[in-house]
Amino acid sequence: MALSDLRRDMVLSAIEEYDKLGRGAFLKAYGYGPARDYFLLYDGKRYDSKAIAGVAHRGVDGRPLRADDFSGGDATVARTLSDLGFEVTRPSDVIDGHSPGSLLQKILTLKTAASVSPGARKRHQPLALLWALGRAARRDDRLVPWPDASPALESLLREFGHPGDGLNAEFPVLRLYHHGLWDLPGHNDVPTASGSAAQSWMRQNQPLSGLRSWVHDLVADQPAIRAQIVLRLLDGYFHDVDHDKLLAATLLIPEPNAIRPALDEVTPPRDGTPTPTRRTVTTSRVIRDSALAEQVKLLHDYQCQICGTRLMTGRGPYAEGAHIRPLGMPHNGPDEPGNLLCLCPNHHVLFDGGTISISEDLVAVDVSTGKPITQLRLAEGHTPAPQHLAYHRRVFADPQI
Ligand SMILES: [Zn+2]
Repeated sequence: MALSDLRRDMVLSAIEEYDKLGRGAFLKAYGYGPARDYFLLYDGKRYDSKAIAGVAHRGVDGRPLRADDFSGGDATVARTLSDLGFEVTRPSDVIDGHSPGSLLQKILTLKTAASVSPGARKRHQPLALLWALGRAARRDDRLVPWPDASPALESLLREFGHPGDGLNAEFPVLRLYHHGLWDLPGHNDVPTASGSAAQSWMRQNQPLSGLRSWVHDLVADQPAIRAQIVLRLLDGYFHDVDHDKLLAATLLIPEPNAIRPALDEVTPPRDGTPTPTRRTVTTSRVIRDSALAEQVKLLHDYQCQICGTRLMTGRGPYAEGAHIRPLGMPHNGPDEPGNLLCLCPNHHVLFDGGTISISEDLVAVDVSTGKPITQLRLAEGHTPAPQHLAYHRRVFADPQI
């Protein structure tokens, strides 16, 4: 195969197909994993560059390349696309302008060290970021004195880090500083994140630190961006951790007023109304979702993934976190982002009741007729897991399960 035969129009037609199918279906159809470092930027959107180049290759000899057909590395692909006049991000890129895109790019290119746990990455930086995201969500002070920040980070590392990776809170802060996400105002002699010199520098300076102000402002003002980062960190580093426990520990939990009880649950005022001798108890439609579901809803800005409705109530926007494979017996679905959809109450009921299922290509389907209803709406950073969708389809194809 020769990437050098690619032409710009072939790449554009692959981009068109990517747009039509959606990211998940496109990658799956051609056997690619999600890109980590190299993205093609086109028309304000990001595309997995290797998958695009591989599919574009169909224009050369009629055959799209699969991921393992490539002999060159990702950098070769990036160079080929750049040569064709496309913009491609690179791991070390500092993208001009402090945009959500440049922030997400930095999150995707964190340089984390290998953990002592086989196959895992150290969780120091992700935990420091989650801690800071929780502070930004609550609009706490951006900068925290080291004598306060250090024990808070250590306690997170103790509870959620890989055992044996160490509890040094200095290193993640220094790494994040050099990666452009963390601020140590007033210091321009910040050492690199290794060795005892780094630790003694922190001990001597006891600096104020926190997210860079543009990062802090962005994640404080834009809950959907914050949620996208939270879900990416959970997905990238914390597969075997109880997500709700971690979100609670980093205070990434719903605002108290967002979980205020529904009106029909509030005890009626004692205003002399005769107490009824019998009271009918009704079930409230307000579903108190987990902290994890709240992040998924924030990411979708409370828009239903099937119909796009965003219900506005007196208490703010409202949507429900729908588990694809139900929690609890006998289904035992996991509470993880890939097992959640953000749905309006109507579609939640129809989905849970098996009137609607989601196909492999992420199309909502009427189960009784098999007819497609609509393409599932996706948001960057959250993909429903194919195995959970398949489970949901199986359950309703065979109600004996
Ligand atoms: Zn809906």
